[in-house]
Amino acid sequence: MRNIGQIISQKGFKMSKYICDNCGNIDFYENTINKVFNINEKLSLVENIPVLLCSHCQEPNLTIETTEHIRRLLNPTCNGNRVTPV
Ligand SMILES: [Zn+2]
Repeated sequence: MRNIGQIISQKGFKMSKYICDNCGNIDFYENTINKVFNINEKLSLVENIPVLLCSHCQEPNLTIETTEHIRRLLNPTCNGNRVTPV
């Protein structure tokens, strides 16, 4: 999901931070889903993931924050590129 910052439609009343990856819509409503992730050939079910459901195509869009949170949840030993101070 792309964060496109705050955009205002031509009519000036619609504001959204996000745009749907699937259809480009900017209207969402909040919901939670259960999703299975395949991490290193291992399937992990994550329940109650907060998502923004597209009001047009019902595609569940994860925010960058949520994606990052799940990534850490599923891979707690991975520190990414974090530099360890010496
Ligand atoms: Zn959509």
